[in-house]
Amino acid sequence: MTEVSTMHIGFLGLGNMGGPMACNLLKAGHRVTVFDPSAQAVAALVEAGATSASSPAAVAQADVEAIVTMLPAAAQVKQVYQGNDGLLAHIGQGVLLIDCSTIDPLSAREVATLALAQGNPMLDAPVSGGTGGAAAGTLTFMVGGPASAFDQAGPILSAMGKNLVHCGDSGNGQVAKIANNMLLGISMIGVAEAMALGVSLGMDAKVLAGVINTSSGRCWSSEINNPFPGVLANAPASRGYSGGFGTDLMLKDLGLATEAAKHVRQPVLLGAAAQQLYQSFSQQGNGGLDFSAIIKLYRRDAEA
Ligand code: NAD
Repeated sequence: MTEVSTMHIGFLGLGNMGGPMACNLLKAGHRVTVFDPSAQAVAALVEAGATSASSPAAVAQADVEAIVTMLPAAAQVKQVYQGNDGLLAHIGQGVLLIDCSTIDPLSAREVATLALAQGNPMLDAPVSGGTGGAAAGTLTFMVGGPASAFDQAGPILSAMGKNLVHCGDSGNGQVAKIANNMLLGISMIGVAEAMALGVSLGMDAKVLAGVINTSSGRCWSSEINNPFPGVLANAPASRGYSGGFGTDLMLKDLGLATEAAKHVRQPVLLGAAAQQLYQSFSQQGNGGLDFSAIIKLYRRDAEA
């Protein structure tokens, strides 16, 4: 039997994703010290076997070997790492830092540069796989940062996910994530448009989806998360667009992609159009629905 070495790991941000990810670190035998401003989120992890800390600084001072963060956006990442009571001001040299939040590549590079300058290797490691993948420990991690830090992070990331991809230098994990999600946002609109057109012209939705999924239009949005109700029994479209990947989360990722594109003067014509379509859809009160609900923009018969 091979012996798996366990570590003492800090974990900050115990929300829909971070909570189950931290649980999987505990299940793999790691010792975990957690912080989140939500007492309820902390209590659930303590119940599962974690130790709670009163601040990011307290996590940094808890003799941890590595720290994982899973925070809403760049503002919280900067606060947690760079604040007076933050990680960088209190951490010992050599502690590995892994930020799994989805943020813009420039902010990821800024924090990683500060960390590295004081002797802490840092990775950006955003994920794909959603809350289901977080609970099942099957996430994909898109990782940017030094190869040596990627190797060091292996036992930690593999307790929470099954695909670990080293995407290159610092920030490139975020680049991969936002490029993929921009494509996903666009492809969903394309599938919604094609499905709505076919049904309006008289085709049965299931037959049309079957044709697309054995033809060249096939993609994840047509095959796994088809936006037309009733085509796939287990897709959000067949349960009122509940669960799944929220429109506002897609909107956040498209905002990151279009903003990052501005910095390199890279045109993202369809990405920008998709961002505006989801923004309009969100403004109509649909931000909490799975992003496949965007098909409602096309269907006269869809309920509001
Ligand atoms: P969430 O809002 O459920 O959780 C965020 C957690 O961070 C909350 O518990 C909050 O209390 C905590 N937090 C906020 N400020 C903090 C601070 N200063 N210190 C410590 N904790 C703090 O969000 P989520 O759905 O878990 O998403 C987390 C990240 O993962 C986001 O960047 C999101 O874009 C990304 N992501 C989410 C999904 C998804 O399906 N939910 C999928 C892929 C990636």
